Amino acid sequence: MTSIAFIGLGNMGGPMAANLVKAGHSVHGFDLTPASRDAAKADGVTIAAKAADAVKNAEVVITMLPAGKHVLSVWSEIIPAVAKGTLMIDCSTIDVESARKSHALAAEHHLPSIDAPVSGGTGGAKAGTLTFMAGGDAKAFAAAKPILEAMGKKIVHCGDAGAGQAAKICNNMILGISMIGVSEAFVLAEKLGLSHQALFDVASTSSGQCWSLTSYCPVPGPVPTSPSNNEYRPGFAAALMLKDLRLSQEAAKAAGAVTPLGAHAESIYETFEKAGHGGVDFSGIIHQLRHLAGK
Ligand code: NAD
Repeated sequence: MTSIAFIGLGNMGGPMAANLVKAGHSVHGFDLTPASRDAAKADGVTIAAKAADAVKNAEVVITMLPAGKHVLSVWSEIIPAVAKGTLMIDCSTIDVESARKSHALAAEHHLPSIDAPVSGGTGGAKAGTLTFMAGGDAKAFAAAKPILEAMGKKIVHCGDAGAGQAAKICNNMILGISMIGVSEAFVLAEKLGLSHQALFDVASTSSGQCWSLTSYCPVPGPVPTSPSNNEYRPGFAAALMLKDLRLSQEAAKAAGAVTPLGAHAESIYETFEKAGHGGVDFSGIIHQLRHLAGK
């Protein structure tokens, strides 16, 4: 049993903390929102009055927060309160620069740290089947791995500080672009009088095959579990896809990479969000493309 502090008990953090409790760990947690605190308490998390109290006796600290500014602010607050040798793990999806700054904050206090963003969504968080993409030194990764295994099924060491975040935004840039590509193909098929099922049957077993088509098919019917069959309820909200595409474009600019399709995908999701659809599953982008086609 490990004593773990978990800060940020929202849609992802709540079920992740619950899985740590189920695995037999002692979990102390904190969240700014009363509803998140209450739900985590019902799952066996001991709720502290503030983040710095939750980390007092922790051997491992995990954060699962909205963005880089929240992670830097919480890490600055709690690091002076943690015991020597405490392992710091951030599972949020944040920009690579903030991830590297958070590692530097930990290093100033001689604390091991890893960035370990996830993929798999709220379903994976509940089922304990997340994929973790980790960045940090080998010793910190080895210490984190058994803890992450209580919340995920695949744990990949991607490299040094920030490499987990780099892997996450590169993957999600592919995802955003591929979802638009698959949606464009269905809109073109509609115009050509080709049925959704016929396109799916061909493309899912041909060179057009990809996760956006076979797991998150943007039209209802061919993949019964995809959000399109459930009125495009997320799943993975378009606002979160836009956040990740923005992170990819910030990183591309800073690193001098040329990512024209990533930039175009960002602008298409931005228009979708500005039209009030940020809460729709990201596969709902097909509506935006039909709208552009004047349907
Ligand atoms: P969420 O908004 O449900 O949860 C974030 C929680 O952090 C909230 O409960 C909020 O109250 C809390 N919080 C914010 N500032 C805090 C502070 N200073 N102290 C304590 N608590 C604070 O978001 P989420 O869906 O759980 O996502 C969390 C992270 O995981 C994000 O970075 C997101 O991009 C990433 N992510 C989400 C998904 C998904 O499908 N939801 C998938 C993969 C990755």
